[in-house]
Amino acid sequence: MPSAAASSLANTLLRREILDLHAYHVPDSAGYIKLDAMENPYAMPSALRDEIADGVVTAAINRYPDPAAASLKEKIRSVTGLPPGMDILLGNGSDELIQLLAMALNKPGSTLLSVEPSFVMYRMIATFVGMRYVGVPLVNNPRGANLGGANSGAADFSLDLPLTLAAIKREQPALVFLAYPNNPTGNLFPAEAVAQIIEASPGLVVVDEAYYAFASDSFLPRLARYPNLLVMRTFSKLGMAGLRLGFLAGSKAWLGQLEKLRLPYNVGVLPQLVAGKLLEHHDALLRQAEQIKQDRAKLHRQLAEIAAVQVYPSEANFLLFRVANATSVFDGLKQRGVLIKNLNGGHPMLHDCLRVTVGKPEENERFIAALKDSLLHG
Ligand code: PMP
Repeated sequence: MPSAAASSLANTLLRREILDLHAYHVPDSAGYIKLDAMENPYAMPSALRDEIADGVVTAAINRYPDPAAASLKEKIRSVTGLPPGMDILLGNGSDELIQLLAMALNKPGSTLLSVEPSFVMYRMIATFVGMRYVGVPLVNNPRGANLGGANSGAADFSLDLPLTLAAIKREQPALVFLAYPNNPTGNLFPAEAVAQIIEASPGLVVVDEAYYAFASDSFLPRLARYPNLLVMRTFSKLGMAGLRLGFLAGSKAWLGQLEKLRLPYNVGVLPQLVAGKLLEHHDALLRQAEQIKQDRAKLHRQLAEIAAVQVYPSEANFLLFRVANATSVFDGLKQRGVLIKNLNGGHPMLHDCLRVTVGKPEENERFIAALKDSLLHG
């Protein structure tokens, strides 16, 4: 039985922590209204389609891509308004950059620190590379109630600054990730608190701005203030999830070193070409993001009006909400053709929590109708 032999060999040879991992689960979404993955629901601007199609036809896919992706980097530099003296490093999605950073900073015994609940890949990638991981809990007031204690009155999932600063002092992390806004909670931590974390950190702090297009603040203009700060962004939420493109912004001193770990051709010919064209129409993408922000406000109001639902504030393109028996509500939505993200069981603080991505107005209406129906009829 070769497969039994292979399985026993894999069990013997693989690292224990890899055997213990659960793979990042991506459900089959075919046929559903897809509101599970924070994608931009809008297709690329129609004026661009022919231009991109022409570019693809003549693209030299028999050749390796430009390893420096010079033209794409130049466009990113101009649309993001990168501060003078700062550089960028491209990743095949920002997931790849998290991995690159963890590999680079993982000296024996060093620690990666983040808050919890946050983006699960910080912890997973620490495990991939064999780096110690510490997760500092966010404030947990399950009913949004004032439960007393040091954080009395603090909103659910807000940053526990004293606890985070104490953990940084104790753990001396080489690498800190802060999602700004946070996923899956959607809130934007106070800039002043993030600044204090950066100042108190002996290691590198990466402010992960995956949802920057929907948020009211950014650390990009503050890069020059801190020698231990990098800002990470992705274009996944701005209509390019399928291209896989993210970047780190920061000083040449950092990025010049990190560049050594980037695999030579990590951004292919077609992503370079298509993202380059799309970024020439960055304003159109930002208009889509603006629309999503307006629809987020409406969806938030609609969820807040449902007595059984507790919805949280969001500066991202999704909303987190809590509802009794979340898993059966999630299943009820699926039966009605709407796929969102079930966070119940993922993290103790996310008990009975679901996350819905803001879609097109008609998709949001379908979601709300399906939600009300499943709450009534199961
Ligand atoms: N950071 C955060 C906070 C995210 O939520 C995500 C995607 N869910 C990513 C990074 C990774 O994005 P990508 O790999 O698509 O660039």
